[in-house]
Amino acid sequence: MTRLFIPGPTNVDNRTLEAMRQPMISHRSAEFRELFARIQVGLQETLKTTNRIFVTTSSGTGLFEGAMRNTVAERILVCVCGAFGERWYDVALRNNIRADRLDIPWGEPNTPAQIKDQLNTQRYDALAIVHNETSTSVENPIAEIITATREIQPEIVILVDAVSSAAGADIRTDEWGIDILIASSQKCFALPPGLAFAAVSDRAMERAKTIENRGLYFDFILLDKYLQRNMTPATPAISLFYALDTQLEIIQQEGIAERFERHRELAKHVQQWAKEHFELFAAEGYRSKTLTTIRNSRALEIAKLNEFLSGHGMQIGNGYGKLKEETFRIAHMGEMQLDELNHLLRLIESFISTKK
Ligand code: PLP
Repeated sequence: MTRLFIPGPTNVDNRTLEAMRQPMISHRSAEFRELFARIQVGLQETLKTTNRIFVTTSSGTGLFEGAMRNTVAERILVCVCGAFGERWYDVALRNNIRADRLDIPWGEPNTPAQIKDQLNTQRYDALAIVHNETSTSVENPIAEIITATREIQPEIVILVDAVSSAAGADIRTDEWGIDILIASSQKCFALPPGLAFAAVSDRAMERAKTIENRGLYFDFILLDKYLQRNMTPATPAISLFYALDTQLEIIQQEGIAERFERHRELAKHVQQWAKEHFELFAAEGYRSKTLTTIRNSRALEIAKLNEFLSGHGMQIGNGYGKLKEETFRIAHMGEMQLDELNHLLRLIESFISTKK
């Protein structure tokens, strides 16, 4: 078995894997409805929201498409500071949605000032942004950005990709005013891939009612209609719902505040280590709590490093996209503990020492 230090999928607790062995039930049964009702409560606590949470049998990208198609009639502003901001933009283009993109050099966060300038020149239905940019390990200042945005366009719908930070970083969905918060199962939730979550505000639902063509699979009005009876419109991945139910219990047992604190500590630890041996890619003050992108300042062959690590049953992440050779990534998310992370770091040090 390989211990994964890649930014998803992450290692899954045996109790959670075991939960998937339960027999199938009908997704129209009382048993399923109880299960889904319980899951809602756990997700709301983890994501700090009282908003409805759609659970879809898809990965997070599906909900990117859903979020845009349900909220944009005319035009969206997309903030890009890495590969997943680019994905937001790509989703808009492929759905024939008019989009403007605001770029900042990779490694830097999108800023309230940059966004304000754009909002002063053009009205938008929605703004899409990534909370935790997995390609660069930048954490965007979402609260400040939303405050600045609403000062200029109070009715804009805010779409936030929290795929690689939800359940690992302290995201205050309601306090910050996020209309649609999107997460995937396979990252800090430490579940197998296959489910995605969207915490959706009333403002976003009101908008959806005015949109004519919302598609079918991710139609928020339809999802909401079924959710009111603790069901999904199409057949859900029931085994993953069982896993989620168990995993939410594991999260509760640890404590949500404690879970966020553990992620913060792990991040501090890796960042410190990376500063001693390499350089950090993300700008200071905006560094991710859940993964670290490290500049490959020793020009290591990352494939060779991973080969070495795999001999010890471990794997780290390549650089993403255009950063493939320039960086590598260590994820510290989900159920990761300090001792296993330390084990990995010592191994990387021993690999480095053979290259001197
Ligand atoms: N957004 C971010 C920040 C991600 O890290 C990823 C996946 O790595 C995605 C979106 C896409 O999520 P999914 O693979 O669940 O569709």
